[in-house]
Amino acid sequence: MEPLSGRKESLIKHLKESGYLKTPRVMRAFQEVKRELFIPKGMRQHAYADQPLPIGEGQTISAPHMVAMMTELLEPSKGDRVLEVGAGSGYQAAILSRLVKKVYTVELEKNLAEKASRALEKAGYTNVEIRVGDGSGGWKEHAPFDKVMVTCASPEIPQPLVDQLKEGGIMAIPVGGSWQQELIIGRKKNGKLLKERHGGCVFVPLRH
Ligand code: SAH
Repeated sequence: MEPLSGRKESLIKHLKESGYLKTPRVMRAFQEVKRELFIPKGMRQHAYADQPLPIGEGQTISAPHMVAMMTELLEPSKGDRVLEVGAGSGYQAAILSRLVKKVYTVELEKNLAEKASRALEKAGYTNVEIRVGDGSGGWKEHAPFDKVMVTCASPEIPQPLVDQLKEGGIMAIPVGGSWQQELIIGRKKNGKLLKERHGGCVFVPLRH
């Protein structure tokens, strides 16, 4: 069997050629972060297949192309403080942690939050803080944020997340029903979110 390092190289090549990975900084983050640390042991041989994988509690780690696309669209920069809703495995937070100053991530499932926290610690990424709870209310103590990324789907954009986004800030969120959503990128201008559509996607639903 081909070693994981070779599969990782092939995946990154595929993500570049398909246009999901665009900027050198984001490419470097993909090179650096080990996706195998964020998935259950029995599935590690699939770590570099471009597909979502189950992580327990009926939840999934997003497919690498979706992580690449959302990360690029968020235009991460060094000084950013980012809120993520739906830590799941912690992989998306790990990617962001290499690109921004600080990541605050909220996860509804205690079990997943604990696993994610351990994986991030093992990887040595210390600029990520996880809280267990309903992230649709954001994380008031650390607001406002330069960027907000929601990795679970909601029929509408929770207002507290708009309120906690800085003026000029960017939000990425899948909006729609349980089975099919559209990836929306919003930029906050004069207190309102100006929205762009970025195509269909499938995320697990945001729950309360
Ligand atoms: N970003 C994750 C993918 C997570 S899947 C990764 O890189 O692995 C979506 C996650 O959102 C699930 O773990 C689910 O438990 C969580 N979730 C659902 N509703 C939520 C809510 N209201 N607040 C916080 N997390 C939520």
